[in-house]
Formats: sequence, structure tokens, C-alpha cells
Amino acid sequence: MEYKHFGHQHTLTLYKVPTGQQYQCHGCHLPCHDSIFACWSCSFFLHEHCGNANRYVKHPSHPEHPLVLLPSPTYCSSSYLCNGCGAPGSSFSYCCPMCEVDVHLHCAYLPPKVTHQAHQHDVFLSFKLPDLGGAAVHCKICAKEINPKHWYYFCEKPECGFRIHTFCATNEVKPGLYGDDGPEDQVQVQTPVCAQPQPTAEDVLAEMLRIQIQLQMAQHINQVNSNYI
Ligand SMILES: [Zn+2]
Ligand SMILES: [Zn+2]
Ligand SMILES: [Zn+2]
Ligand SMILES: [Zn+2]
Ligand SMILES: [Zn+2]
Ligand SMILES: [Zn+2]
Repeated sequence: MEYKHFGHQHTLTLYKVPTGQQYQCHGCHLPCHDSIFACWSCSFFLHEHCGNANRYVKHPSHPEHPLVLLPSPTYCSSSYLCNGCGAPGSSFSYCCPMCEVDVHLHCAYLPPKVTHQAHQHDVFLSFKLPDLGGAAVHCKICAKEINPKHWYYFCEKPECGFRIHTFCATNEVKPGLYGDDGPEDQVQVQTPVCAQPQPTAEDVLAEMLRIQIQLQMAQHINQVNSNYI
């Protein structure tokens, strides 16, 4: 069975990874152990869930606009900083081109609730630190500061004051957690990549935005270059 993915020019085949073997997913850069989409001539691999990830999601961290899945960053630096965890990324991202929001594929599907062995209560994903009068918040796992711009997990009981980095909380992903029809639509039917529906008006709009941004970037580079001539 062959699949076409917008992030790769060749068709991909679904492959069951035998135990003992490991590949790196091009989409999220995490190791793949089970089912992968593969292009063997390019050594291009995707987790099945990364290959099937929705092209658009309505994400609670950015309710204003849908986030668009891009196979590679459109920035000149060809990398981005994830709004979720703060780490750089250079492969798949969910982005809002208008607001310069970029989120790792695996960060976009962080579980809303995590049971952590270091705390007796469940902790919940939150996208914005409360204003604590400018006081820095430190992660209860690694003791490093939590950047107020990044996401974190917290215990709902205020007396616990338990807040931890997303990457200190879990490496779990919940593929298909968010659909493109809003968070109510939590169940996503996994369809083979080749059977994805035709682009909608929203697809076309997002694609146009992307092209527009690339054009603006090109113009900017031209301008900068012409200043030096
Ligand atoms: Zn992946
Ligand atoms: Zn290839
Ligand atoms: Zn991230
Ligand atoms: Zn936006
Ligand atoms: Zn931490
Ligand atoms: Zn607690």
C-alpha cells in the first residue's frame, strides 16, 4: 500500500518496525518503534500518527486561528522556537502564519492531563502562567525557571503550588486529540494519507498566506541585498 504525504515528494509505504530496530521520525524527531511511513531511498520516516496528523487543528493554545501543519519552517533560518516548550524545531510544526505561532507536532498533542509519579494529584496542561507579581516560577522537577511564555503542567490545588515544564511532565502524545472542527470533536478517524479529502477553501487560504509570507520574505531579502550594492 502506498501513501502520498505533502511533506515528501515520493510515495511512502507503511512498514511494521521489527523489535530491536529503530528509526527517527522526520516529523517530530522522536524514535519510532512500531508502525512507520517510510521512503527507503531517502531514509525518510514518519510515525504513523505523525503522517496522519491533521493539516489544520483548532488548538486551545491559540483559539483565534486554526494552526496549519507545515512540513518545514518558512523562516529564513529554517528553524523555529516552539511556543509550547521553547525548544527549537526544524521539522514539522503547527503554525499560525499571521501570529507567528509555531508548535512542535508532538507538543501540539500533549495530553491535557498527566499522572506524574512525583506528585500525588494529577496535573493539567496550561498555556499561560498566572501573574504572580513578577515572581519567577520554578519547575518542581528540574528546579529551572518556567518561562512565562511557555506551557506547563500544574496541580489544581493552589496549596500545592506544583508547576512543572511540559517536557518534565511527560513524553506522551495523544495523536488526533484536536480536530479541525474544534475541541468538542475529540475523536478523529485515522484515514490513510492518500485518502485525505480534497483541499477546502481553508486549505487554499492557508496556502495563499504561506506563499504571501514567502514572497514578503523574498522581497525583504532583495531589499537588504540591494542596500549593499
Ligand atoms: Zn513523529
Ligand atoms: Zn523519498
Ligand atoms: Zn515544543
Ligand atoms: Zn493566529
Ligand atoms: Zn522542569
Ligand atoms: Zn497537588
